[in-house]
Amino acid sequence: MSEKIEKLKCLIIGSGPAGYTAAIYAARANMNPVLYQGEQPGGQLTTTNEVENFPGYPDGVTGPEMMIELQKQAERFDTDVRNGWVTRVDFSGDVHKVWVNETKEIHCDTVIISTGASAMYLGLDSEQKYLKLGGGVSACAVCDGFFYRNQEVVIVGAGDSACEEAHYLSKLCKKVTMLVRRDEFRASKIMAARVQKTENIEILYNTETDEVLGDGQVVTGVRVFNNITNKKFEIPATGFFVAIGHKPNTDIFKGFLDLDETGYIKNVPGTSKTNVEGVFVSGDAADHVYRQAVTAAGTGCMAALDAERYLAAKDADFEVATSTYN
Ligand code: NDP
Repeated sequence: MSEKIEKLKCLIIGSGPAGYTAAIYAARANMNPVLYQGEQPGGQLTTTNEVENFPGYPDGVTGPEMMIELQKQAERFDTDVRNGWVTRVDFSGDVHKVWVNETKEIHCDTVIISTGASAMYLGLDSEQKYLKLGGGVSACAVCDGFFYRNQEVVIVGAGDSACEEAHYLSKLCKKVTMLVRRDEFRASKIMAARVQKTENIEILYNTETDEVLGDGQVVTGVRVFNNITNKKFEIPATGFFVAIGHKPNTDIFKGFLDLDETGYIKNVPGTSKTNVEGVFVSGDAADHVYRQAVTAAGTGCMAALDAERYLAAKDADFEVATSTYN
């Protein structure tokens, strides 16, 4: 049997820097936000070791620590942080309907989407096996590169991310082999040139992954094939890095919100507004360009301010608490 319908002024979906920042602002503006953490509480940063580029942490901070502090800060202003996974929405009417774990139905005046993005993988069984075992497959060189110091690694991808990560790895590892599936990079010229001239990066064009090889526990190499000659060969490696892009976590919004061809939510430029009134977006769910914790936090702030302004315009009784604008 489904639970009683709950009514909320502000629902925040997602618990990365965007979601928690939106919560801090919304809570301080009397919007009584409820935040659902989603499948990966703390978001992508919980898989990151050291965060050195978030202003205010001169000595750096680990990703998980930063997320705990952000959660505490949101809770200090009485954000109701809950475990749960939003499985369905209906933004077709005046009331925005959201279902948590398929059972709990919530009706919201405003919704702030901060569902982020997830790294994409090739989908090979062997890749998934060693990823789950924590045995040498990673989608984040900055998080895990350290473990492969002075070792040989393989990285897949030819975009800006792959170039950035390959270059990062080249400073730690003995050798980085980069697998590029076409005969050219997708990355910007400057990023591609940087890896091309790095001595310990070997670029294999027209080369794809056939299998991640291992001893059952850890990666020992990668079998690849040239997609022109179909010739297969093995590359010894202890780490296999996948840098083929990210997928925004926006599937549940399809049909209600305008998404771009990759699934990123389209926002009205310069705002957090979506095509549905009262529904706002922040963080990586709408950002394929910057994808930084600090930019996510910034857009989380924007979403809360936009939601507050929306509520104030809609309901004269809603007292604008922050008075930071107008
Ligand atoms: P992109 O979508 O730009 O690139 C993905 C790369 O992965 C492409 O080269 C693609 O190959 C390759 N790829 C995809 N699927 C497979 C597969 N199954 N097997 C092998 N290769 C595959 O993603 P990025 O994450 O690199 O970048 C996303 C956005 O973020 C871009 O706009 C980028 O410019 C930006 N960015 C900017 C940075 C900066 O300026 N400092 C840093 C990082 C990202 P193919 O080319 O053949 O399609």
